[in-house]
Amino acid sequence: MAALMLATTSAAADDYHMLYTVSMDTAKHYLNVNLTYTGEDEQLKLKMPVWAPGYYSILDFPKHLCDFSATDRKGERLSWHKESKNTWVIDTKGKKTINVSYRIFANERDVASSRVDANVAFIAPNGVFMYKDTDTSHPLTLTYDLPSNWKNISSGLKADTDNPHSFTVPSFDILFDSPFLIGNHYTKSFTHEGHDYEFAIETPQGLEESRFESSFRAIVSTCTDIIGDVPYDNYCLIHLGEGQGGLEHLNSQACYTDGTYEFHDERSRWIKFLSFVAHEYFHLYNVKTIRPIELGPFDYDREAYCPLIWFCEGITCYYETLILERAGLCTEEEKLLLLSNYMRMDERYDGKYHQSLRMASYDIWLNFMNDDANSKDVRINYYFRGPSVGLIMDIEIQRLSNNRHSLDDLMRLLYNRYHKEAGRGFTEEEFWNAVDEVAGASMSHVRDMVDKPGEIDYERYLTPAGIKLDREKWIMTLPKNEETFRGL
Ligand SMILES: [Zn+2]
Repeated sequence: MAALMLATTSAAADDYHMLYTVSMDTAKHYLNVNLTYTGEDEQLKLKMPVWAPGYYSILDFPKHLCDFSATDRKGERLSWHKESKNTWVIDTKGKKTINVSYRIFANERDVASSRVDANVAFIAPNGVFMYKDTDTSHPLTLTYDLPSNWKNISSGLKADTDNPHSFTVPSFDILFDSPFLIGNHYTKSFTHEGHDYEFAIETPQGLEESRFESSFRAIVSTCTDIIGDVPYDNYCLIHLGEGQGGLEHLNSQACYTDGTYEFHDERSRWIKFLSFVAHEYFHLYNVKTIRPIELGPFDYDREAYCPLIWFCEGITCYYETLILERAGLCTEEEKLLLLSNYMRMDERYDGKYHQSLRMASYDIWLNFMNDDANSKDVRINYYFRGPSVGLIMDIEIQRLSNNRHSLDDLMRLLYNRYHKEAGRGFTEEEFWNAVDEVAGASMSHVRDMVDKPGEIDYERYLTPAGIKLDREKWIMTLPKNEETFRGL
């Protein structure tokens, strides 16, 4: 009986609806946001995230907000106040339907922020939509009111069948993981191995459609082979114009590009571009589903401190090279050159003597995109040192398990044990226990490489694997006819 009463009370408290409509002011770079809220609250508390998962920096999205107002259904103004930089509290006066409106200045060129231009809008939802209290698991509906000459809405979310401009979103957590590209961009849809894919490209100049599509298909198939599962129904690749950075999502990626797909037959540029695509794609495993426990569910109010981000990013950098080689998109020599580039960037600076990979992960909230004059002297970049440790982890797992296992087995174990079976992330200790388990022996020497600053004795690991390291140029090569470990 008590349980029944609890359920009834809970249902009443949760019984509210949030209906958003968003239009664009393309001349002045604004998103006009309207929320119709229906519920029974004396006070309605609305919150907007201050950061976006995957982009480990407090971006304070509400700084782009202006003209917040709240009215009842008759248009009578309701009073409101702010409780924190990202919390608005509305006195509902007992009214059940509340209209909230505000504008977002959208003129940033980073993948975590929105941008409205004459021809397209990139919507990064964390800085646009508000949720109630802490209830990010609540559903919402969302309708875009497009400029009359705009045609496309591209997203990992699927539009409602009766209205291609409307979306019924299961939760704010899913909304915040689903950017949109809206406007007159290039689109291409296709099916691959039973799943639907869409390319949404803002500046497709020079794009060789079939070459890019076949390369992307090969990347997808290779990743599927590694993990043995595809965790989405559909996937949307959003490529934006000229800019920097990419952001991973569970069934999409949003990346700034060179603003052109003219590679002028420069193979190294083409391979670098594909490695970027593979990196963001593989993140749907490594970080979105194979994830440290701190990285979801998220508290969008504050930092998610995590000592394993080096694994999420650095090992994804290692895999981007493996994926390209296995997909037949680069040679083994080119793969080692890509890895050498990372190693060289790490070795050039003294940061390795002052900061461990573990601490670089934890302190990323201080150091993301930090370009202090001394940053390279005292800090490391997990994008650079991480792939080298990934290579050594792979070699050591293969060596200690007598070639029975490789790093792939660790990824599969983490995916199946924690994502599929437990439905949660793993702790740092669970992670290192899994590493030992796959190797069949202690990998504490590799953990030391992660937890402590200092030099890495590369030759100790590379030489038995047949890899030669030129320390003058920081280039790794794999002389032919040498015995190598599986998977390298
Ligand atoms: Zn990444």
